[in-house]
Parts: sequence; structure tokens; C-alpha cells
Amino acid sequence: MTTNDELFLRAQHAIPGGVNSPVRAFGSVGGTPRFLVSAKGPYVTDAEGREYVDLIAGWGPAILGHADPRVIEAVQDAASRGLSFGASTPAETELAELVEQRVGPVEQLRLVSTGTEATMTAIRLARGFTGRDLLVKFAGHYHGHSDGLLAEAGSGLATFALPGSAGVPAEIAALTLVIPYNDLDAVEVVFAEHGDRIAAVIVEAAAANMGVVPPLPGFNQALVRIARDHGALVISDEVLTGFRVSEAGWWGLEQASAGTDADTSYTPDLQTFGKVIGGGMPVAAVGGRLEIMQRLAPLGPVYQAGTLSGNPVAVAAGIATLNAADASVYAALDRNAGLVASAVTDALAAEGVAHVVQRAGNLFSFMFTEAPVVDYDGAKAQESWRYAPFFHAMLDAGVSLPPSVFEAWFVTAAHDDAAIARIVDALPAAAKAAAA
Ligand code: PLP
Repeated sequence: MTTNDELFLRAQHAIPGGVNSPVRAFGSVGGTPRFLVSAKGPYVTDAEGREYVDLIAGWGPAILGHADPRVIEAVQDAASRGLSFGASTPAETELAELVEQRVGPVEQLRLVSTGTEATMTAIRLARGFTGRDLLVKFAGHYHGHSDGLLAEAGSGLATFALPGSAGVPAEIAALTLVIPYNDLDAVEVVFAEHGDRIAAVIVEAAAANMGVVPPLPGFNQALVRIARDHGALVISDEVLTGFRVSEAGWWGLEQASAGTDADTSYTPDLQTFGKVIGGGMPVAAVGGRLEIMQRLAPLGPVYQAGTLSGNPVAVAAGIATLNAADASVYAALDRNAGLVASAVTDALAAEGVAHVVQRAGNLFSFMFTEAPVVDYDGAKAQESWRYAPFFHAMLDAGVSLPPSVFEAWFVTAAHDDAAIARIVDALPAAAKAAAA
């Protein structure tokens, strides 16, 4: 048997840092990443034959659990008919229609392969539609790794961003304005100062890449109103929340309040999707208002393309996943999120570890701080050093958590009583480790 240590050593010779995406390297928690060889339902198995209850779910897509038979069968069936045609298929229209039926503001949809491509395309489209250059993003929000979106906040409001990564030209970063999340005053200020040059605001529908930080009630609604007053578009990034937190994503949860006293419903101009829409295969998408979507090539002047866009095997996985994701799946996801979140909070409280549970639908994370966190500064101010010992105690006990305190935890509908019991059993020792 080859051990994880041996595999990591070998990988580090062949691959920068031994990984194909940085967070997998365990940089913020230390230790050796587990090299996975298979996954089924709520479990993943590493190269040493060890099974873990998984709370990463492929970073979101596996809402049904890993290797759901309906999805595997659809993929096998599609694969047997050819892997890639580079031509139109009936299935890609079917997937677009499924999304348009679920998500009201999406009148047309263009398929791409990754969430990064989806947000890149949405921004180009917004710039092409408005004829403006500037983009507003929120500190702590992640929209993929394209040049203009890695920008971090400087100090103060509406700082012209620094690149956030080597290799990003300052001139490109300077087109992105970064402001604090959940702060409508900051939104008003940035529009007052630069309103006629802002093409779009891009926002995670509910933030989940600095840990989970839900929008304050009415935030998305007010954001759309302010942007619209200034002729700018709102790109609501549902790559992570789309089809995970409800059948219609985060938009669907807020839409459910429409017409009530607590109405927080909103209509973004463009929405981006990824993860669940591909059921674990490379599918992502940008969708929205017809008059904007029709600016895309070949109809309009905004160019976008992809050899693998609408890949038939990937699209089959997406359709099978969305078709299987009925109300009972979302009820199971909500239930499982509730069970795990309350078990963790009970264990941490029993050890006197100050923490808050941050939730956005069935997405959640824990922050080692006293009061609910509403923005990136708050997320960074927590006692984040408590997470590494907690994480490793859980891993040692056979529970795989995201290897960073700044990531959301993902349940699946396949987390049954046995899987949840294994999480609950692992918690007392992990909470003790966090308290130390
Ligand atoms: N947008 C959000 C909200 C995300 O969470 C992510 C990835 O985690 C992306 C965009 C980028 O997606 P991808 O990793 O598929 O490029």
C-alpha cells in the first residue's frame, strides 16, 4: 500500500505544491492531505483504505451524496455515446430549460465549464452591455481566479484594489473597486463617487468563501435597487449556493418572502452557476435577462466560447442531479445541516469555546468569535488558530472537514443517521483540542 505521505511527496515533484487547487494542500491546517481513491454516499476513502465521513462534498456539487446511482448511470450512458462532440446537443437545451424553469430571472443560459469562466463571462457581458469598465466586488467574496476578481480590499471604503496575486497587472486590478460586505452605506458611497463608470456589482448571493456570511435581510434587494438607479447591473454569483440551498438557489430562498412584510426578494440582471449544475462534472453557466444574454456571440458583440462547453457527459450528470433534487432532497440537506451544526455547537459549548454558527440555508460554518460575523474584517478577526487542532482531531477520528476555517461545510442528502453519529462521536475530542 502506498501511504498518503508517499503520495504527497511524489505529487510535490510532479505538481506545484502537490495539488491542482491551493486549499487542497492543507496549508492553513498543516499535515498531509489525504489522497482519495473513491467516494460513495456520505463517505470518501483514501489511498490507505481509510474511510471518512465527508463534509466537503466535492466543494459543493454532491448534494445527493457521492456516486449517486442515477447520476452514475446517466454519465455512463452518455459516455457510451461519445465523450465530446464540439457541436450542439439536445441535452444542453434540456439543462438550460431546467434552470430557466427553476430560476425566474434566468431567461437564457450559456453553459461553460467552470465557475471562473461563468463569472468572467458575466463581467464581460456586463461591460459590453453597459459600455462601462468598473466593477464593484465585496471584500472576502470569491468569484474564481480570473485577473480582476482576485482583488483584495485596501483600507477604507471603495479602495481601488491591489492585484491580490502576483501576475495580475495593476491596471487590471484598478478596474475593480472593493468594498465591505453587508454595508449599504459603502455601496451608496461607491456609486456616488463612480456611479457613471460602474458596469456591475458582483456579489455572492450569500457569501460562503470567508466562512459563511449570509446577507443581512434586504441587502441583496437594496443592492439591486442602488445599482439600477445608476444604470449598473448586478451579477449574483450562485456558483456555490445555486441548486444547493434550494431548488432555485439563494434567489429562491429570498423569493419565498415576496409579498410578505419581510419581503427580501430581488431580481438580479445576471446569475452565475457552477458546482451542483454539473453534479460533480465540469459544468457552469451564466444566465439572466434576455436583452443582456443576447449580446453574447453569435448574436451580439461580446465574445465567449469553449471547446468543452456543454460537454455531453458533463451535461448528463447535471441533468440527472437536478432531476433527482426534489423537495425531499432539500429537506434532507436542511435537516442534516441542522443536526451537524447543533452537534458541533453543543460540543464546543461544552468545552467553553467561544464560537458562532454562521448559516445560509443548508450552508454553514463556525467562527471562533463571540458575535455573528457580517463581513470579512469580522471573519478575519476570529481566533482562527483554534481550527487546525479541531480539524485534525476530526480527521483522526474519520471525519473530513474543509481544511480551512474560511470555507463552508457541505452536507449531502446521503448523510444518514450512521454518518451523523460518526460525526457526533468525533466531536468531544475535537472540541477539547480547539479549547486547548
Ligand atoms: N464563485 C463562487 C461563489 C465560488 O464559490 C467559486 C468556487 O468555489 C467560483 C465562483 C469559482 O468556481 P470554479 O472553482 O468552478 O472556477
